[in-house]
Amino acid sequence: MEIQLLSSDVVDKIAAGEVVERPAHLLKELLENSLDAGATKIEVEIDEGGKSLSVTDDGKGVLKKELPLVFARHATSKIEESEDLWKLSTFGFRGEAIASISSVSRLDFISRRKGEKKGYKIQCEFGSLSDVSETSAQEGTTVRIQDLFSNIPARLKFLKSDSAEVTQIKNVIKAMAMQYPHVEWKVKSKGKLLFVWKGGQTPLERAQSVLDTKKLYEHKKEFEGFNAHVIFSDPSNVTKVSRQIWIFVQNRWVQDRGIQAAVMEAYRNLLMHGQYPICYVSLECPPDEVDVNIHPTKSQVKFIDAKKAFRAVHYCLREAIEKAPWQTKTPSYENKVIAAPVEKTDSFESFDLQRTQFQQKTFSKPQFEQTQSVYSPKVGMEELKQASQREEVKSLDVEKPQGYWSTFQVVGQVDLTYIVVQDKEKMMLVDQHAAHERVAFERLMNSWKNGNMEVQSFLLPLTVDLEEPEVETLVEMTEELSTMGISIEQAGPSTIAIASLPSIIKEAGLVEALKKLAKERLDKGGSFALEVAIGDIFATMACHSVVRAGQSLSREQMENLLTDMDEFPLSGFCPHGRSVSIDWSFVHLEKEFGRRG
Ligand code: ADP
Ligand code: MG
Repeated sequence: MEIQLLSSDVVDKIAAGEVVERPAHLLKELLENSLDAGATKIEVEIDEGGKSLSVTDDGKGVLKKELPLVFARHATSKIEESEDLWKLSTFGFRGEAIASISSVSRLDFISRRKGEKKGYKIQCEFGSLSDVSETSAQEGTTVRIQDLFSNIPARLKFLKSDSAEVTQIKNVIKAMAMQYPHVEWKVKSKGKLLFVWKGGQTPLERAQSVLDTKKLYEHKKEFEGFNAHVIFSDPSNVTKVSRQIWIFVQNRWVQDRGIQAAVMEAYRNLLMHGQYPICYVSLECPPDEVDVNIHPTKSQVKFIDAKKAFRAVHYCLREAIEKAPWQTKTPSYENKVIAAPVEKTDSFESFDLQRTQFQQKTFSKPQFEQTQSVYSPKVGMEELKQASQREEVKSLDVEKPQGYWSTFQVVGQVDLTYIVVQDKEKMMLVDQHAAHERVAFERLMNSWKNGNMEVQSFLLPLTVDLEEPEVETLVEMTEELSTMGISIEQAGPSTIAIASLPSIIKEAGLVEALKKLAKERLDKGGSFALEVAIGDIFATMACHSVVRAGQSLSREQMENLLTDMDEFPLSGFCPHGRSVSIDWSFVHLEKEFGRRG
C-alpha cells in the first residue's frame, strides 16, 4: 500500500506547524480564547523566549465534563454550522488551537467554571491526555505551556533568538491590549513586570500608554457601511518603520497592505520619504464583506471589495488630519507674569507682549472659511457625492480651527531664511520657504478643486503614447478628467488625444502625470487617484514658484505669510513632509538658562 491515512498524531503535528509557528502565535491563540470567554482581567507570564508561558483569565471557564473536549480537534463551543463562519463574533472557530499546541508541548489546563465551587485540572503531554483532577483555582482559566516544540527539534531550530521571539510576543500583547482597553492586563517576563494596563480605559487612553506617546488624536467615521476608528499621531511624531501602524479588522489584529496604504495616503504630502506615522486603525464592516478564515494564524483577512476598506480608512484619517488637531492654541494669558513692558515701538525687535495687543492679534484674525473637503463632489463620483452630503450634515456643528500662525508676533528674520516669532508660551522659527511652499501648494489644490484652474486649449490636439491599459483607464476617467480641465479622447489603442489641459500640468510633465494617474487608478481604484497625481505635480510646482531661502522679507511680508498659512490647517508641514517650524517653550529656555529648577 502506498497511500495511507495519516495517524492523528501526525495530523496534529502538521496542524501545529501551521497554527503555532512561533510562540507569539500560540500566545495569540490563548489570549483570543480568554477574550472569547469574556475575560476582564488577563495575566500573562513568559519565559525562555516564549517556550514557556501561561495565561490566566477571569472568563467563564469550562465545565468539568467538557475539559477533555478542549483538547479534541475540531471541538469548539463557538460555531455549529459552516454558515456561522460568516457571522463570527468570536476569535476562535476552528477548535484547533489547543489540540495543536498540546501535541507539541506540556500543557496544563486549569479551569473553574463561573459559579462553580471547585476548580479542575487536566494535563496533556505531547498529545497524551491525563485524567481530570480537582484543584484549587479562582473562577476562570489558566493555561500553562512548557517545553514547547521539545518533541520536534526541527521546529526548535526555526525559532529566532529568545529576545526576537519576545519582541513578537510583546507586539501580540500590545495589539490585543489596544483592542481591549476595558480589559486589565498584567504581563511578566522572567518574573519581572513588563506591562500593566488598568482596566476600563478608553481606546485613546490605552493607545497612549501602549504606544508610549500622549500626542495622539482620535476620529471615527462611517463610509459605505464600513466603520473606521483611527487614533493617530501628528506628522512630526513619526517612526522609520511601518510597524507602528496597527490594523484591526472585525476586532482582529491583521496585516493588510491595502489598509496600510490607505494610512500612508492620508498622510500624503505631510511625511518625508521613509517616515511612518504612529497609527491605530480599527475597521468594522458587515460580516459578509470580509472573510476572516483565509490564513492559518488568522493574521490576514480578505475583503470582498478591498477598495471599500481602503476608502473608509483613508477618508476617516484624512478628514481628521486635515483639521490639524495638534495645532491647538490655549490662550491662558492670566497666569503668566508679563515682563516689564518695554516702550512700545513698531520696530521688528519689539518684544512687547502686552495683553491687549496680544488678544487683539489672537481674535481679530479671520477664522478658517475653508470648509471644502479634499473629496470635492466635483470629482463626479456618485458615492463621493453621497458621502459629502452626509458629511455636510455632520460638519455643520464641527468647530472650525482657530487662527494659529497669525496669532504669533513676528520678531524678525534670521539668516534670511527663518522667521522668528513668539507668543506667550514659546518662541518659534518658521522656515519661510517651506511655509510658503505649503501655502502655494494648497492654493493650487484649492483652485483645482473649485474648478477655477486656468485651462489651455490646443488648436491641434496633443497626442500622447502610453501603454494600452493606461489608455483604457484614462478613457474610463474621461468625465472626471474633464472636471479639471483635461479633455481627452482615444486616438488609437495606445494613444490619446488631448484637446485641453490646465496650464499647470503641461509644464510639470504631461506624460508623467497621465501615467501616474492611470497607475494610481489601476492599483487602488480610488477616486482620489486624480488628486494624488495632481497633488504630486502641485508639490513640485509649489516648490519652484515661491520665496526661497536667502531672500529678505519685510515685516509685512512675514505677517502676510503667517496669515496665509492660517488659511490651510496643514501649513505646519511643507508638501514634502518637512516640518515648517521648530519651537522652544519659554519654560524650556528658562530651564536651559538655569533660571528654573
Ligand atoms: P476555538 O477557540 O477555535 O474554539 P480552541 O482549541 O482554541 O478552539 O479552544 C477549544 C475550546 O476550549 C473553546 O471553544 C472553548 O470552549 C474552550 N476554551 C479554551 N480556552 C478557554 C478559556 N481560556 N476559557 C474558557 N474556555 C476556553
Ligand atoms: Mg481558540
